[in-house]
This record gives sequence, structure tokens and C-alpha cells, in this order.
Amino acid sequence: MEKPTVGIYGLTGCAGDQLVILNCEDELLDIAGALDIKFFPMAMTGNDEECPLDIVFVEGSVVQPKEVEMLKKLRERAKLLIAIGTCAVWGGVQAMKNEIPRDEMKRKVYGPEGKVFDVISAQPLSNFVKVDLAISGCPIEKEQLLHAVASLLHGDLPRLPTYAVCTECKMAEYPCLLLEKGQLCMGPLTVAGCKARCPSYGQPCRGCRGPVEEANAASEAKLLKEKGFTWLDIQNRLRTFAASADSLKIESIKEGTNA
Ligand code: SF4
Ligand code: SF4
Repeated sequence: MEKPTVGIYGLTGCAGDQLVILNCEDELLDIAGALDIKFFPMAMTGNDEECPLDIVFVEGSVVQPKEVEMLKKLRERAKLLIAIGTCAVWGGVQAMKNEIPRDEMKRKVYGPEGKVFDVISAQPLSNFVKVDLAISGCPIEKEQLLHAVASLLHGDLPRLPTYAVCTECKMAEYPCLLLEKGQLCMGPLTVAGCKARCPSYGQPCRGCRGPVEEANAASEAKLLKEKGFTWLDIQNRLRTFAASADSLKIESIKEGTNA
């Protein structure tokens, strides 16, 4: 069987998801043996920027017009385009400031020199191209990546969790930080896959994996308000990783909570 040709690309982000791939250590040689990796500049030289690709993994969000062009070209070259990491899937932390006019932000951050940067609001890949599979996480979980690679080698797309972090938290029988300790935990709204890592250390979930399907943010916001959190506390937490997600859009949630 011919090995699938693969490219691993990064747009704007911290490169943490590419590092997860490199950190696969015990499995890395098997991955390299099973895939024909054509482009992975973080790990190799002699990258091929033109060849057709069976699978392209793309990390990071789109924040520059030149990244839009690059992404569209990748889409044309690839049979399957896979978004890896919360930035690629939801826009990530850089989408928090999208409502501030770009020119004003550039001036504040870079002074008059900011004019040289050509940027747009931070957006997920799916705003520009068809995404065949989204693996969220900040960064992605190694187990989900390996599961995805194994499924792709069999010609399938992997089945990823569609339930919330709370489900993993309850299954592990961790005490509920929201209900028992009144902490601002995003577990009810966040897609599972991390085995409720933060609650396992007594820390509330910050929502780094992005929203679960049909996340009921208005209901959680109402509960948090009853527990004494301000609207600003709630808003800031909801917006940290997935400000562009419709289910977390601030105005609709505010209406739902009668704020
Ligand atoms: S601690 Fe957080 S993740 Fe765990 S059950 Fe409570 S709300 Fe859900
Ligand atoms: S518990 Fe929440 S913040 Fe922590 S790793 Fe999981 S999804 Fe991310």
C-alpha cells in the first residue's frame, strides 16, 4: 500500500500542536514510517511546497490576508484538510480581541509602525475553506492525534468525543468545582478529550478545547450569576479560547440570562 502524502503547516499560533506531534516520541518512528511526510518545516529540511497531498494538518488561526491565500492553495492541493488545535478550529486566544478595530489595535500594540502589518480579525480555518476534520485542544491531545492518524490510515475519519468535559469529570468522580465549590468552571460547555485534566488538579476548566456541540452557554451564565460572578467574569471566561463560536456569542447569551 502506498503511504499517504502528508503536509503539516502552521498559521498564526504558538506551534504547540506541531510540538505535540514531535513529542510523540515512542510513536514518532512508526508515524514517520506509515506516512510520506512531504512538508513539516519544524522537523525537517527539503520540504516540498507544490506536490499534491493526501492529508494536510493545519495549525493556527487565520490572521493575515496572505494566510487566507496559503490556506486556499493548501485546500486545492489536499484530499483531506484537518484543523489541529483550538486556534485552527475556533480562532483561539487571538480571537478575543476581534471586536477592537484592527487599526486601533495595531496602533496600540506597535505604534505608528503597526501600519506595516496587514492583518484581519483572527478566524478559524472553516471560515475560509472546507475542513474535513477538526481536532481541538490547546494543544491537541496526543491520544487523539494518534487515534486520528490510525483511522486515516484505515481510510476512515476518527470518532472524537461529542460530550462535555463534565462527563469525563463525573466518570472520574472528581468533586464538582462549580456546584460544590462555586468556581467558574467551563466544563459544561467544553468538548471532552482531555480527561478533565484541570479538575483532576482541583482547577476549574478554562474551556481550552472549545465548545461542545449545542453548548448551553446562557444556562451556565445564569448559574454563574446566581453564584455571584459578574457578567464581566463570565464574559471573559467564555471568550478566552473560542470568542468566534456562535454558541458563545455574548449578546445572545446575555439575552438568555435576562442580563
Ligand atoms: S468540576 Fe467542572 S468539569 Fe467537573 S463536573 Fe464540575 S463543572 Fe463539570
Ligand atoms: S479541563 Fe478544560 S481547560 Fe483543562 S485541559 Fe481540559 S478542556 Fe482544557
